Amino acid sequence: MSKHTHAFQAEVKQILHLVTHSLYSNKEIFLRELVSNASDACDKLRFEALDQPGLFEDAPALDIRVWVDAEARTITVRDNGIGMSLEEAVQHLGTIAKSGTREFMAALEGDRKKDANLIGQFGVGFYSGFIVADRITVESRRAGLPAADGVRWSSDGSGDFEVETIARPARGTDVILHLRDGEDEFLAAWKLRSIIAKYSDHISLPILMPSTKWDEEKKEQVATDEWETVNKAAALWTRAKSEITDDEYQAFYQQLSYDTQPPLAYTHNRVEGRTEYTQLLYVPAKAPFDLWNRDKRGGVKLYVKRVFIMDDAEALMPVYLRFVKGVIDSADLPLNVSRELLQESRDVKAIREGCTKRVLAMLEDVAENQLDKYAAFWREFGAVLKEGLGEDFANRERLAKLLRFASTHADEGVSLADYVSRMKEGQEAIYVVTADTLAAAKGSPQLEVFRKKGIEVLLLVDRVDEWMLSHLYEFEGHPLRSVAKGAVDLGKLQDEAEKKAAEEAAEAFAPVLERLKTALKDRVKDVRATTRLVESPACIVVDEGDMSTHLARLLEQAGQEAPRSQPILEVNPGHALVERLAAAPDGDARFDDLAQILFDQALLAEGGQLDDPAAYVARVNRMLAAV
Ligand code: ADP
Ligand code: MG
Repeated sequence: MSKHTHAFQAEVKQILHLVTHSLYSNKEIFLRELVSNASDACDKLRFEALDQPGLFEDAPALDIRVWVDAEARTITVRDNGIGMSLEEAVQHLGTIAKSGTREFMAALEGDRKKDANLIGQFGVGFYSGFIVADRITVESRRAGLPAADGVRWSSDGSGDFEVETIARPARGTDVILHLRDGEDEFLAAWKLRSIIAKYSDHISLPILMPSTKWDEEKKEQVATDEWETVNKAAALWTRAKSEITDDEYQAFYQQLSYDTQPPLAYTHNRVEGRTEYTQLLYVPAKAPFDLWNRDKRGGVKLYVKRVFIMDDAEALMPVYLRFVKGVIDSADLPLNVSRELLQESRDVKAIREGCTKRVLAMLEDVAENQLDKYAAFWREFGAVLKEGLGEDFANRERLAKLLRFASTHADEGVSLADYVSRMKEGQEAIYVVTADTLAAAKGSPQLEVFRKKGIEVLLLVDRVDEWMLSHLYEFEGHPLRSVAKGAVDLGKLQDEAEKKAAEEAAEAFAPVLERLKTALKDRVKDVRATTRLVESPACIVVDEGDMSTHLARLLEQAGQEAPRSQPILEVNPGHALVERLAAAPDGDARFDDLAQILFDQALLAEGGQLDDPAAYVARVNRMLAAV
């Protein structure tokens, strides 16, 4: 077949432009990316060969070879893995299958150092070759295809690439980088070795380079025909814990996660018993850009007896722990385990439970011993962890202890246990208020009486908090109670005199309440006098069983239908505005204006929106003009 020219997909062109024009620091990661692709290709071959042993042809020993040709100024990375057909080369090296290009661009724009490290995070590692090369040639043959069906792919990384069919007896792929002027440092074999040692030591396949010997005449090291292994080539998690240094654990994490920061914590164990497996699990310190994509998995890679099986094994980790990275290597699962089988396997269930417990134990340890670190973790991942309360019934109590909140007592870091330890004599419930922002929560009129009595209230301002409350209704025997739901019941916290005064006020106030009910009959379920307000004239609450107005608002913002039950208006009989209302004679037009304003203001105060803002403004103006 003759040569064919294809244009790169538009996104690839953008990436290539960025790669060649803006990535200045950490250039050397191109080698890590190519080695990692070579290793992936070998993993894929091993996996496909489980069903089709013939794919190994007569070369079952998999390895990666790296060498330089100083005269031609090239670096070659060779693997004998799965290889690519011509169609696959066009597809995989000319388009980007994954989403994330936009995020990648945005991350690059934000990063003043223009760190090439970013590239691996976004699944576009192959293109990092163009940081140092002005032409890349790829020669490949897919396992199982005849020798005549090899492919050569070539590009200078600008607008397009060429492909042609070639004869290629060797299975697998050669990636040949033609170095740019000025990148000669990468022609030194020792340099490549040190890059491999830095980034790819834990690749479980041997990475081979020609061994060198001293040439007396040239007065330099020259390559020989012998190959020597330049990495450890033993999967890190299979080695004894006592022989692995912290640096090695960190380097492995970087390779798994592309995170530029060290992990928050990690755990490495060989679990024995009915199901045997090894777990090496990391909790990152920083959230990835796609944390909120609940469908995205891939944090934990599944191996069976060292053979890589899959990296989106969602059966292995609950969704709410999707930020965990690591490796699970099972000794019991069958090698040809399918996704369907994974879902049903009892061994997998045991692994999932065991790993979940381990991660929670890690977090508990940090929460107890490293407060600052835990606070940072909470800021990054707290909202995700809350999802667990609804998802993981068995661990609900452990999860509840890991929760941290803002409260009227402290702006962050309040645990439920802290709260309980500060409860007032006679206080039974844990009081909470939900709102869109911390400021709105702090300003909630419903808080007033709590503040006056010095009772702490948790301020819940995460979008998931409302949802969380539907799953977390008590902690250590104390019910969680929203201060904006139901009648305020301070129980033993209110003394007899206060209760009596409130009852008397309500009675004296009954006629006004009736008039208010009539004036607002289309907007409220009920109007009642309250003791919960101190400074505000009125507030809105909902019935115990009804959806909170805040949740209804969140659902509406998300485009979902929310059953809008009518709220209850509570008024403060002691407030000047309410007193004025009470004084207005029957039939006074101003009574109606004032009643509507009271209700609208109560809505605004809790972050709601007015159905008819213009009418509100007109009423307020009428009142102001009359002053
Ligand atoms: P990623 O590795 O995250 O998929 P890359 O840009 O590094 O992204 O590689 C793109 C794709 O090119 C790979 O997914 C793979 O299909 C293909 N590819 C790259 N290198 C090789 C190789 N050595 N052997 C087989 N396929 C490869
Ligand atoms: Mg890659």
